[in-house]
Amino acid sequence: MANKREDYISWDEYFMGVAILSGQRSKDPNTQVGCCIVSQDNKILSMGYNGLPTGCSDEEFPWNREGEDPLETKYVYTVHSELNAILNYRGGSLEGAKLYVSLFPCNECAKAIIQSGIKEVIYDCNKYKGTPSVAASMRMFDAAGVKYHPYKRTGRKIEIEL
Ligand SMILES: [Zn+2]
Repeated sequence: MANKREDYISWDEYFMGVAILSGQRSKDPNTQVGCCIVSQDNKILSMGYNGLPTGCSDEEFPWNREGEDPLETKYVYTVHSELNAILNYRGGSLEGAKLYVSLFPCNECAKAIIQSGIKEVIYDCNKYKGTPSVAASMRMFDAAGVKYHPYKRTGRKIEIEL
């Protein structure tokens, strides 16, 4: 009897890999964030990336970060990956689920994460640590009993030919 493969990817690598791959769908020239929501028994429930709402054309809406007219910046239009993943899920409740995301959630996504019943957040990058948005997210997660911890990078590189 053959022994099983030993170099298979871990659950954490699998789900963070799916989150990062989802982020590659983003049209945002500056920020690509991806998210993967997983049940307690490690089944993928939903995925998302930062982008415009359905029907809002990637060609017609602005992707600028700055500008005198706020209506010509991306901020008023884009939906973050976490909210997209939550809203993309049409299967029922996300109660008790885990959320893998490539960037620590902003305060608006934190509210949606808490209200959807997600109980654990595993994040990769936290480059906005110390900002009011991230501080507010942590305060709300702590109050609501949502656990959060950084993903432990393994250094594994995966090449996929597409
Ligand atoms: Zn957000």
